[in-house]
Parts: sequence; structure tokens; C-alpha cells
Amino acid sequence: MPNGRIFSRPARKVTNFLNSLIDWIYPSQCTCCGKEPDLCPFLCNECYHKLLIFDDTPDSIVYHKDQPADRVKALFYFDDILQKLIHDIKYRDASYVATFLGRKLGEHLQLSEFSKCDALLPVPLYSVRKRERTYNQSACIAKGISKEWGIPVNERLVKRCRNTNTQTKLNKEERRKNIQDAFRISKKAILPKSVCIIDDVFTTGATTMEMARTLKKAGVKEISILCLATPLRESKKKE
Ligand SMILES: [Zn+2]
Repeated sequence: MPNGRIFSRPARKVTNFLNSLIDWIYPSQCTCCGKEPDLCPFLCNECYHKLLIFDDTPDSIVYHKDQPADRVKALFYFDDILQKLIHDIKYRDASYVATFLGRKLGEHLQLSEFSKCDALLPVPLYSVRKRERTYNQSACIAKGISKEWGIPVNERLVKRCRNTNTQTKLNKEERRKNIQDAFRISKKAILPKSVCIIDDVFTTGATTMEMARTLKKAGVKEISILCLATPLRESKKKE
């Protein structure tokens, strides 16, 4: 039994890597509609332009009355197209999709307050989880943004010191308790004055808010939270 675990992880890494290499070399179809991709190797212009820009603060921010961030935003509405793209990022090792979407996020908010910070801080993964997935999707999004803004990505300042794997099955209060004190600031690091936390999807906001609380407590003066997407609540979808 233990042998299975030892050998399965590298084997999966190789398979994922090969999948991602084949996808890149033979970009035959758009991830979302299957047509010839004419925007980039995995996406067509039509699908990209169907993505809805979410020009507001995520709805679930209202659950965080003590929220420590100066501004919070998600760029896209989490619809079917974005869901497919994020699925590829998470489960097909398509880190280039994350970087591409990060660049789009950066382009869109080039002149906003979000782009006036000293460092981009991707939400860190717990180290074991990062080894399993081979990369941190939030860091890839941050690298895309960094190419547009010229602001450095800092992956060393904040560490995740606990595994919080089970978030998806928890409600918002349970998520908040589950993530409490999960982050630590590196003692050796020089603290930037202003930071922008980067994540993929803003759902309840428990993770990014806890990271922001930790940074605030440590003395960071200005904190922004920027995510790729957020779901809309049912009531808003019908409007
Ligand atoms: Zn398409």
C-alpha cells in the first residue's frame, strides 16, 4: 500500500506534464467550444469575449464585517467557460492558462488602485499539496499580472502552515474557523507597505480574508485582494 503512494505521485506528475506538453504542441481546439482556437493555443476569440466582466465587489464580502482589506475585486463572473478554464488549470497542469488569464486581469486593471502596490502575493498552497499539483495556480495568475504591471511576485513572505484540504465541504462559518491561523509571515522577510493578494476564485472569501488579517496584524499598511472570478448569487443572476 505505501509503495503505491510513493510511486503514484511522480507517475502522475509525468502524465500531467506530458498532457500539458501535448496540449501545447498540438493545440487543435478551443478548451471551451472545440473550434479552432484563434486567440491563443487553447481559446477562441468568441469564447473569450463571452466571458462576463464582473464590475463590482464579490457579493460574499458582506459576510466579513471585520474585513481587513482596503479593496476587493474579482474580474470575471464564474460561468461555464471560466469553470472549464479553471478546471484545466487545476487538474490538467495547464499553468499557461493561469498565466494567460492573469495577463488579461492585469491589462484590465492596469490603471486601477490594485496596480499601485509594492508586491503581488499569491495565496500559498500547503507545501504537500503544492508537491502533488506541481505548481500553485494563484502564483501563475500573479506572474501573468506581474508581466503587465511590472510589480514583483513575492512567494516567500507568507507561508501556509496548516493543511486546509476540506474547504469545499464546509459552510462559510466553518471555512473561516478552518482557515484561522493557517498563515505565517516569514520572520526574515522585509514587510512591504502595500500588497495585493492574488487568488483564483473568490467564493466565501475565507482564505484571502484570513491572509489579509495575518498581513494587517504583521503591520502591512495597505492590502488589496484581487481574484480571477467570483460566482454570482442566485438572486442576482435572475435580475
Ligand atoms: Zn471557443
